[in-house]
Amino acid sequence: MYCLGSVYEDMSDIVPPEVRPKPAIPAKPPNVGAASPSNPFSPPIPPSAVSTGPPVLPPSAIPVLIGGHGPSHNVPHNIGQSTGHGVATPPAPSGGHSTHSSSGGSTLLGYIGIDTIIEQMRKKTMKTGFDFNIMVVGHSGLGKSTLVNTLFKSQVSRKSAGWSRDEKLPKTVEIKSVSHVIEEGGVKMKLTVVDTPGFGDQINNDNCWEPISKYINEQFEKFLKEEVNITRKRRIPDTRMHCCIYFISPTGHSLRQLDIAFLKHLSHSVNIIPVIAKADTMTSEERQEFKQRVRKELEMGGIEFYPQREFDDDMEDKSDNDKIRETMPFAVVGSDKEYQVNGKRVLGRKTAWGIVEVENPNHCEFAQLRDFLIRSHLQDLKEVTHNIHYETYRAKRLNENGGLHPISSNDTQESNL
Ligand code: GDP
Ligand code: MG
Repeated sequence: MYCLGSVYEDMSDIVPPEVRPKPAIPAKPPNVGAASPSNPFSPPIPPSAVSTGPPVLPPSAIPVLIGGHGPSHNVPHNIGQSTGHGVATPPAPSGGHSTHSSSGGSTLLGYIGIDTIIEQMRKKTMKTGFDFNIMVVGHSGLGKSTLVNTLFKSQVSRKSAGWSRDEKLPKTVEIKSVSHVIEEGGVKMKLTVVDTPGFGDQINNDNCWEPISKYINEQFEKFLKEEVNITRKRRIPDTRMHCCIYFISPTGHSLRQLDIAFLKHLSHSVNIIPVIAKADTMTSEERQEFKQRVRKELEMGGIEFYPQREFDDDMEDKSDNDKIRETMPFAVVGSDKEYQVNGKRVLGRKTAWGIVEVENPNHCEFAQLRDFLIRSHLQDLKEVTHNIHYETYRAKRLNENGGLHPISSNDTQESNL
């Protein structure tokens, strides 16, 4: 049996010991389905629905194991070789009992079962759960706290239970985090939302991005320290920010200096998802025009937001992401109040002329943002964080100091899954 190379070391948790080469002509029993790229918005298949053969899961529904030990984007450090959104391609050939393989290619006698890796990954993920961390940044009064509550009250977490909160005070910006463990279909996700009240509240906001950048780097540092420990935790708690929702004021004019400064400094350390706050204050035309203007200004400023063009894996990815990029920044409305509309309780904002329904796609793009974050791009957000942003930090840190010298970082969050 061949040994799996160090390149695949990070997958040791999920790659079965005997992974055999893909047959030149696959011979599969008719009931065995291959993993197919399915609609990212289709819900994950419940375990009960799987009875014959390995299940077919949408790639985006397979969360990466904690610590980002999953297949992913190409990076210079041999971590997580690119296989797209979470579908593992078995890496190296190994000797098998029931196969005949020749050096030039393989002729195999029957179904091997490589595709069961999807089921194996699913089971592992169900056992371990995973962390997902979101940060919200923007000027005071733009509705950050309200949107966090909306996220937790909306369908993301109607089943959630328990909450924790910790506070940290780097300079003028407060950092508050709220976590919920959400369980769905047997899979546990610890969703943490980090709020940053006080951002942009100073008279001089020149360096307002600094405390947030510091916080993001502290989470990288914590992870790095855990990784280089001689005795490592089997699963490193992941407090790294997987995305930053940046709130743009619904002025209808331009981005402000503060926005540009923040986005320029942070877009290389975290996945930025810009949103237009309080979208109910604009008409549909104003919204569209403003969105266009913001996109243009971001482009002119050389600011990349998530999903970054350079990380599109293939043409399919590119065309899916192009569509999303064209609708960004999402125009959102937040509310934690419920109202009765057509016999159903909905989250909304009551005005003199009617109710703005937060989760109604005809009213605003909150549901689109939530689905983008959770249903279609959660796995990719984690991968880009691990393989690009964290990797950049890690390489810089290890180069800079010729090793690890701790920077001051106190524990801010602990995974308690
Ligand atoms: P934060 O300072 O960014 O955390 O903002 P808050 O969430 O505290 O909201 C500030 C004010 O804006 C509150 O009165 C909210 O009720 C209101 N607000 C929040 N979200 C929206 C929204 O989407 N539309 C409108 N019109 N008002 C909102
Ligand atoms: Mg607030």
